Amino acid sequence: MSIPDLASLHALGPAQQPTYPDQGAVDAAVARLRTAPPLVFAGECDDLKAKIAAVTRGEAFLLQGGDCAETFAGVTADNVRNKLRVLLQMAVVLTYAASVPVVKVGRIAGQYAKPRSSDLETRDGVTLPAYRGDAVNGFDFTEAARIPDPQRLVDVYNSSAATLNLVRAFVTGGYADLRQVHTWNTDFVRESPVGQRYEEMASEIERALTFMQAIGADPDEFHRVDFHSSHEALVLEYEHAMTRVDSRTNTPYDVSGHFVWIGERTRQLDNAHVELLSHIKNPIGVKLGPTTTPDDALALAAKLNPHNEPGRLTFITRFGAGKIREGLPHLVEKVNAAGVEVAWVCDPMHGNTFEASSGYKTRRFDDVIEEVQGFFDVHRALGTWPGGVHVELTGDDVTECVGGGEELLEADLGGRYESVCDPRLNRVQSLELAFLVAEMLRK
Ligand code: PEP
Ligand code: MN
Repeated sequence: MSIPDLASLHALGPAQQPTYPDQGAVDAAVARLRTAPPLVFAGECDDLKAKIAAVTRGEAFLLQGGDCAETFAGVTADNVRNKLRVLLQMAVVLTYAASVPVVKVGRIAGQYAKPRSSDLETRDGVTLPAYRGDAVNGFDFTEAARIPDPQRLVDVYNSSAATLNLVRAFVTGGYADLRQVHTWNTDFVRESPVGQRYEEMASEIERALTFMQAIGADPDEFHRVDFHSSHEALVLEYEHAMTRVDSRTNTPYDVSGHFVWIGERTRQLDNAHVELLSHIKNPIGVKLGPTTTPDDALALAAKLNPHNEPGRLTFITRFGAGKIREGLPHLVEKVNAAGVEVAWVCDPMHGNTFEASSGYKTRRFDDVIEEVQGFFDVHRALGTWPGGVHVELTGDDVTECVGGGEELLEADLGGRYESVCDPRLNRVQSLELAFLVAEMLRK
């Protein structure tokens, strides 16, 4: 299968692309990336596809999470470790409750490019190009920082490589040891007032682990986990340059991450993102917002997964807590009735963003939970499998989303608001979400 060239993709008029001032510099960056070694291997993408196929069959649950926007400055050992730790903690709780494998996918090692609702940003009467993620321009509100710089695409590659290197070391080098992760969870339950509500489930897990130990079970899986990278495939120069023909199978893979997705703003059927991703073999996702018609979803499935291969396609719905119960059923029903093989995953973040009176973009923890509950209820009523959750989170104690057991208020947002894009669940809110989703899974 051949890959369309970059110029023909641009000829389709893709949305959300940077306007680079110097084409020579773009060509140089793309040339550099084309010769760079793969960040992930095709065989790993196939493994993940097989795991997502199990999600499609209702035999596994997907946990996908991480920053809205990674930053180059955020590539530190502490930051990567804290994110990974909270995801591993969540995964243990969910695995126990779901009694099926949890497929662990980070919004990590590549999540550097952002679609924006406006090309421009105005502050105090000054208007500049919007920040489009570290992949494109700088967050500083200065004219110089906001000029798109293609060298940043090479920096994305290097930052992703450094992150992935650390993640791989952590998950295979003892850090993901089940006993250890469970100890972090019992610390959370013991030490935080929020955690105490989940004491019962934590002690059930404790008993299960003690039983396994008593009978002498000590499989490899207790000491290491499979962890995968993912990001939104947005900047065509980068994703195209990282698309390579795999020598084993003679087919193209986007080797910038194991799983890539198409965002709500770039999922036009006849445009470049759908076209490019229709040619790669990775497992892929598409975000579906409340305006998606069943015909849109069916057409996307036909174009992106013409052979109806399970595991290839994930629909990540992001309706908002107030719309999901009404909007999701007809979508799921029609897609299901057409026999389309797809994993359904809930993004309870992007339909629930609002601006607090202080000007911070935020989300209410209760809305997030309410959307996940709606997602479970809709799928249960239709007999389809609520396949997973896709969340924006961090392992740090930031103050970006309001509510949760810590009862974070709008007035608290200024305390530690560090996201350069959308608000993330902090460590405690993320763990709380995991326990609450665990309860939904058990019902
Ligand atoms: C995101 O995942 O950060 C994002 C922009 O989502 P969506 O495409 O669903 O708006
Ligand atoms: Mn986001």
